[in-house]
Amino acid sequence: MLADRAAIRHFDRVLASACMEYCWVESLAQLGASLQGGAVGVVVAEVSGLNADGIRLPACVRQFCERDGEGEGAQPVIVLLQGDIAYGTLVRHAEISRDQGLDVRVVRREGRMSGVLEILRGILSAPPKGRTKRRHNGYGSLKESDLRRGLSSPGEVRIVLQPQYELASGLLAGAEALVRWRHERVGEVPAIVTVTLAHRHGLGDALFHHVAGLTASVLARLQRAGEGLRIAINVSADVLCAPQFVPRLIGDFGRLGLDAKRLTVELTEDMPADDLLCLSTALNLLRLHGFGASMDDFGVGNSTPELLTRLPFDELKIDSRYVRRAAIDPAARAVLASALQLSRDLGLRSVAEGIETPEGLALVTSMGCQIGQGFLLSPPLEVGEFQGELPRLRRLS
Ligand code: C2E
Ligand code: MG
Ligand code: MG
Repeated sequence: MLADRAAIRHFDRVLASACMEYCWVESLAQLGASLQGGAVGVVVAEVSGLNADGIRLPACVRQFCERDGEGEGAQPVIVLLQGDIAYGTLVRHAEISRDQGLDVRVVRREGRMSGVLEILRGILSAPPKGRTKRRHNGYGSLKESDLRRGLSSPGEVRIVLQPQYELASGLLAGAEALVRWRHERVGEVPAIVTVTLAHRHGLGDALFHHVAGLTASVLARLQRAGEGLRIAINVSADVLCAPQFVPRLIGDFGRLGLDAKRLTVELTEDMPADDLLCLSTALNLLRLHGFGASMDDFGVGNSTPELLTRLPFDELKIDSRYVRRAAIDPAARAVLASALQLSRDLGLRSVAEGIETPEGLALVTSMGCQIGQGFLLSPPLEVGEFQGELPRLRRLS
């Protein structure tokens, strides 16, 4: 979809000489008809004031594909050409579309013909499975009974530990415990699926205490070995507010003789903080008993500045979406900088999660962030690997 006749003629010449099969469409409605049956591999559209359909294209493709027999057809790759729109704005639109499972590429105004051709050649030379297909993963078939069984079968629901580092010194500071579930039929279940299933069936607190128990065992072993590392575990607002939450955690830790300051509880953003008094009571109790309290995923969902100003956190964990984009996106960088300033002003420890690139690491370090976590530093590790590899993990290489 291009608005400019001269550009269309130019594309015609180039695509014909590259022997590619294509057609022009003038409206999204016309495109919808072509998309039916999944015969279209790539859709190219300019995004400009003259062609506002371009910006609507990802949302429309998602809608067409949802209508076209749930998950059966291959989704086309979408190529958005920069017209009279700022490049950064278009990149952000593409990122939001990709979060929705669409394959969206962006080509700059300058040299856009060669940019499009490069993408088309890449797609044509990729094996068909490289095309975006909606995956059937079977998670939807998981039931309450599956999770109940998983929680009571030793080893089925386990934790992995992702190391966290002090950025100034490169020394290991601790780890975050993340839930993992290996289901016999479905295979490895993503944390977010496990957590959502637990919430849906009122098993959020059972999952939390299962994870806390596994974490306490690791901390006990570390404490016996004289290791002063801290481990963070995740909790949603509704679980934190359950009446027996804090007494049970204190009891479990006390019985093992564990030092409360080795555990940080991260409040995740997934549940609304409906009852602020309840949250304030639970977090204050945790802090009074010496546990750490972290505001996780700051800047997205329910993890808001309002909560930060009112609840007794000692750590601010900036959401990975800002950290991952900061090196390339000035808007994300600005939010990251102000979150770091906020944590300094409030006397909180700052943590950047989602550090994936050396540029990202250099940026958060130069901005004064204290702790870092991300695939670049270390992926989440099985407990045995974490403990066995401690000498190597102790310092960033
Ligand atoms: P989270 O607490 O923000 O945890 C960080 C997530 O980011 C983890 O995904 C981790 O594997 C992933 N991650 C780490 N480094 C990178 C990186 O460099 N790039 C990217 N793109 N991702 C990175 P995971 O394990 O899938 O967990 C997802 C979310 O599920 C967690 O986000 C947390 O909200 C929730 N979750 C995980 N374990 C538990 C749990 O035991 N209880 C509860 N309530 N929620 C949990
Ligand atoms: Mg977390
Ligand atoms: Mg997080």
